[in-house]
Amino acid sequence: MSDSILVWFRRDLRDTDHSALGEALRQARRVYCAFIFDREILAALPERTDRRVEFIRDSLVELDAALRLRGGGLIVRHGWPREEIPRLVQELGVAAVFVNRDYEPLAKERDAAVAAALRRAGIGFRSFKDQVMFDGDEILNRAGRPYTVFTPYRRAWLARLTEAHRPAPGQPSATLAAPAGASQVPTLSALGFHAIDHDQARLAAGMNGAQRLLDDFLGRIARYAEQRDFPAVKGVSYLSVHLRFGTVSIRRLVLQAIAHGALLDPAGGAATWLGELIWRDFYFMILDHFPHVTKNAFKPAYDAIAWEQGTWADDAFAAWCAGRTGYPLVDAAMRQINQTGYMHNRLRMVVASFLSKDLGIDWRRGEAYFAQKLNDFDLAANNGGWQWAASTGCDAQPYFRIFNPLTQSERFDPAGKFIRRYLPELSKVPDRHLHAPWRMSQSEQAACATFTGGAIHEPLVDHETARRRTLARYSVVRNRAAP
Ligand code: FAD
Repeated sequence: MSDSILVWFRRDLRDTDHSALGEALRQARRVYCAFIFDREILAALPERTDRRVEFIRDSLVELDAALRLRGGGLIVRHGWPREEIPRLVQELGVAAVFVNRDYEPLAKERDAAVAAALRRAGIGFRSFKDQVMFDGDEILNRAGRPYTVFTPYRRAWLARLTEAHRPAPGQPSATLAAPAGASQVPTLSALGFHAIDHDQARLAAGMNGAQRLLDDFLGRIARYAEQRDFPAVKGVSYLSVHLRFGTVSIRRLVLQAIAHGALLDPAGGAATWLGELIWRDFYFMILDHFPHVTKNAFKPAYDAIAWEQGTWADDAFAAWCAGRTGYPLVDAAMRQINQTGYMHNRLRMVVASFLSKDLGIDWRRGEAYFAQKLNDFDLAANNGGWQWAASTGCDAQPYFRIFNPLTQSERFDPAGKFIRRYLPELSKVPDRHLHAPWRMSQSEQAACATFTGGAIHEPLVDHETARRRTLARYSVVRNRAAP
């Protein structure tokens, strides 16, 4: 048994069912807990108000309090982890550092650098599986290679589930070591950030925030399969930001899905939701095994596609970002992400398809915009989602399947409730014209002009024309590889 271990928290901001903490408590006599605000990551954020920074900070305050109740507390630093962790190790005199594994290429690099520095000083560094149910090399096909198609991956994942679905081990046999003095969690301004405008809905952070969302969702989980595609309906869990920052454990959610019948009724709400949690594991696995996806298409043949460039593309991209494409569902979705940091999954698919296939703009530009705006931004799922929509990814939708933004609008927001919420200027447009307001006659447009500000424009592109252009654009792929 080691004398003392430092648990370095990153995207796992909870004190229960936490693999690294559980292991440390089993293996050491004293356990320290620390979080480092990474100076480089914070400096790279484009705006000085950022819901994610606030979410992390609020969650740390809660985590610190939870650890203090158990006799410990959280050491918080603001700096460069490659320096701060070795420095802390020296200050505390610990024998090892324990972390939960991260699968992003930059995080892997960071961890390798920290581990190497610690090794030189004779200090151990161990990482544990925590963010996912199964690590990248735990689910392989018969040839011992990673799956690149989701359905067989899901089958293999479900077959292995019984071996792995228990919560992380670790009865607290050790003492949590308390940092000296009061809470060390810095204020937002000390980190160089401002609080978001509190008139806007604030994210319920921390383990408590996750618990409330989970309780609310479990009352609706049976209806998930029918309701999850309608952005105006409260049909999904909204737990993604909590999964992103680890204020809830994936094991706990999987167990809840099972408790609500996920393994009994494959078409039911709980099974459908469990399927989404498996997609999450799938994309972590893809990122882990195929890190080239962060820069290139998963399927190299798709790197030959010539995306729109120049002034037209720049203007069209700016219009897409601002929610000014003329297609109400696309625009309402972009206003949702701009105003709240969240976007409904159906809409993520619609706007990603619109950018890459209606506007012909490189999916990487949209991916980067989402990375900047999404509260739940996660490299693996975001990259997977964008490559799926742009047809460049593994198990993506075929390139000739092109979402029609009007049909999507009529099908998934039939009464225009979502559109009206985010595009108040269209609130008086009659239902039958809401999805394509530019088709109103002059007199109909005049009748609602005071509400629209007379601002009904032709859409940026005609979908049929764009569809034909996209089929031609993607035809380069056919000569290089099967789609
Ligand atoms: P629920 O429907 O309640 O699903 C439960 C959980 O399952 C989610 O919280 C999420 O962790 C996981 N999940 C659901 N769908 C997917 C999926 N398609 N891929 C991977 N995991 C999934 N999800 C992110 O967490 N971060 C992202 O940056 C992200 N970017 C996306 C970009 C695009 C273009 C697309 C099409 C999808 C993206 N997704 C991303 C997946 C999905 O849209 C969100 O996870 C979901 O909308 C979050 O809402 P929820 O928690 O209510 O989901």
